[in-house]
Amino acid sequence: MTSFRWGAAGDVGQVRQVNQDHILATDGLFAVADGMGGHRGGEVASEVAIDALQEHFGRPTTECLVEAVQLANEAVVTRAAGDSELRGMGTTMCALARVVVDGEEGLTVVNVGDSRAYLLMDGTDRLVQISEDHSLVATLERQGQITKEDAAVHPQRNILTRALGIDQRVLVDSFDLAPVVGDRYLLCSDGLFNEVEEPRICQVLGGTDDPQAAAEELVRLANEGGGRDNISVVIVHIVESDGADGLRQQSGDNRVVNVIHGSDRASGNGGAAAPAAPDAKAAGKGKNKNKAVVPPPSAPVAAAAATDVTGGAPGVPAARSRFTWRVVAFLVAFLAIIGIGLWVISYMATNTYFVKFDSAGHVVIYQGRPGGMLWYEPTVAEATDLDRTTVPARFVAELEQGKDEPSLAEAQAFVANIRREQAADGGSATGGIAGGLGGDTSTTTVRPTTTVVPTTSVTEPPPTPAP
Ligand code: MG
Repeated sequence: MTSFRWGAAGDVGQVRQVNQDHILATDGLFAVADGMGGHRGGEVASEVAIDALQEHFGRPTTECLVEAVQLANEAVVTRAAGDSELRGMGTTMCALARVVVDGEEGLTVVNVGDSRAYLLMDGTDRLVQISEDHSLVATLERQGQITKEDAAVHPQRNILTRALGIDQRVLVDSFDLAPVVGDRYLLCSDGLFNEVEEPRICQVLGGTDDPQAAAEELVRLANEGGGRDNISVVIVHIVESDGADGLRQQSGDNRVVNVIHGSDRASGNGGAAAPAAPDAKAAGKGKNKNKAVVPPPSAPVAAAAATDVTGGAPGVPAARSRFTWRVVAFLVAFLAIIGIGLWVISYMATNTYFVKFDSAGHVVIYQGRPGGMLWYEPTVAEATDLDRTTVPARFVAELEQGKDEPSLAEAQAFVANIRREQAADGGSATGGIAGGLGGDTSTTTVRPTTTVVPTTSVTEPPPTPAP
């Protein structure tokens, strides 16, 4: 029987207001989830995922663990679909579980996103990252397009290529491992490894036999390093392991027995032969922005990027031109996004109308939104000769609040409707929309007018008490 001693600690950090990470630490199943999404989305996503993982991990097999992660993904998608405030939320998931591998009791790590599983092997001081990050910079680094140093300062280092909650199906990587007494595993969110260098993490992990004390010390160090993100740490010590001799022999020195990447699993390919464990990866410090998820780059362009496309003399280091190209591309994309955003705001702020009493009690058609939107104040589209004393009583409350209409024509139709009811009530209206409808209240078709063209912005009048 493989048995564990474990500890877990988490903290909101020094900058964030809410802790969007969640931790699971029970005998035989350990996990860290790092949520993302505005408002309360990330917090909900990571909690829903952890609960679903625990609920669906019913059999101690790698495939059941992978399926539990996929069901956790579906749970996040379903929850987001039922609440507009949660749309777009997602979460990472990195878990370690006791399973049966090739008929023997082993361990499995599963991963989606950029939370990490590390291993400190018994008797060594070498920290090995077991999981592979699903982030844009990790993909570019694996393709050879950027170096570890580039990745550490890359402006898009918080962009993920996989996360739970984004699509109905998610690709899950799995890593089967041989349990060895004395080995220590660490699961953590990026709030730890972005703030604490791996040699220091390794020192703390190996420095005490108390996993809870080590977990708390790592959280303290992450806060000391800046605490720019939520911090989650789970530490698992292997304290007993019987009957896994075959796995230990098979894995040799790196503990890894079998790796199945999510893409291979989806295409029906079996597991790969045990590779060398991935090297521990450099973790760059930097700003901890909210994460976003994009598809991974599909085709390596390393060869093209390595060419000096500036026409410079041979021998000029390619890294400089690559960096310049990326900066320019990033700035162009950034400015395009800003431009689109401004256009959308302008469109939303001005492409609507409302009908309301002005401060003198006259009925006025305004262009814009009641109360204005950001720096856009409503403007007078058309004034009318109707006023509070002549409109039918049933329209008064609506006109005090402001009646929204999607177009000028429909706002004019609303005013025409007031006139018809006024006439039916025996009212005295004889005019029309100033310069617009010409007082014709006998027809039901209202044509937009172009006569009144306000040139200055006015502040929407405050509501006037009903007489
Ligand atoms: Mg994080």
